[in-house]
Amino acid sequence: MNLSIIETHAHIYDEVFAEDRAIMLEKAFSEGVSEIWMPNCASETIEGMMALAEQYPTKCLPMMGLHPCYVKEDFEKELYIVEEWLNKYKFLAIGEIGMDLYWDKTFQKQQEEAFLTQCQLAKKHNLWIDIHSRNAFWETVELIEKNADPNLKGIFHCFSGDLADAQKAIELGFLLGIGGVVTFKNGGLDKILPHISLENIVLETDAPYLAPVPYRGKRNEPAYLTIIAQKVADTMEVSVEQVIEQTTLNAKSLRY
Ligand SMILES: [Zn+2]
Repeated sequence: MNLSIIETHAHIYDEVFAEDRAIMLEKAFSEGVSEIWMPNCASETIEGMMALAEQYPTKCLPMMGLHPCYVKEDFEKELYIVEEWLNKYKFLAIGEIGMDLYWDKTFQKQQEEAFLTQCQLAKKHNLWIDIHSRNAFWETVELIEKNADPNLKGIFHCFSGDLADAQKAIELGFLLGIGGVVTFKNGGLDKILPHISLENIVLETDAPYLAPVPYRGKRNEPAYLTIIAQKVADTMEVSVEQVIEQTTLNAKSLRY
């Protein structure tokens, strides 16, 4: 296949790749993955991410942001570090940012504040946002609407809501990040994808998490994007070439 695939969300700096990172990346590139977009989590993940950005400057592109699961008592200090980096490096996007009320609601208020602050940073630096929202879709939507910036765009990464959620995200001008969940039996994306347009989605793995079937439960990696693209094609009843071509265009529309 001669098409280029953009991996819009992968934590390739994660320590689970320490032993074979270069091989893992070469495998992805040989599968047609032309770019890998790296979401940041917190200050502790910046060093590893930036090392990859330096090593693969045209292929591994970093985002900057504070992940909602890392929003704790010290979140203001973390946001200060995010801001400092934004002032000295041209990042691809602000991410990953958002709300996660799945594990813990202790810092819900702080998560909201961190999200809104980072939406403002996106505006200031003219960047799009990569959203992580888990058990918090409508809370996140409310914050986006409150932020009231019609120019704010981005991706709802690892989208896993229902059709009404999908339509709302699209209405707000966002793309849906589709990953390994599309291959899960009860993933629910089979009920959404046939009702939306190919122009509304991008592909991602969220590696090392959420590996697609037949690797479910194992380490995920960007090379598996071809499995995800094929499953999206089957579900939407189009060719895999069409899926890759359109999702790459969609991804580029954010960047250029
Ligand atoms: Zn992620």
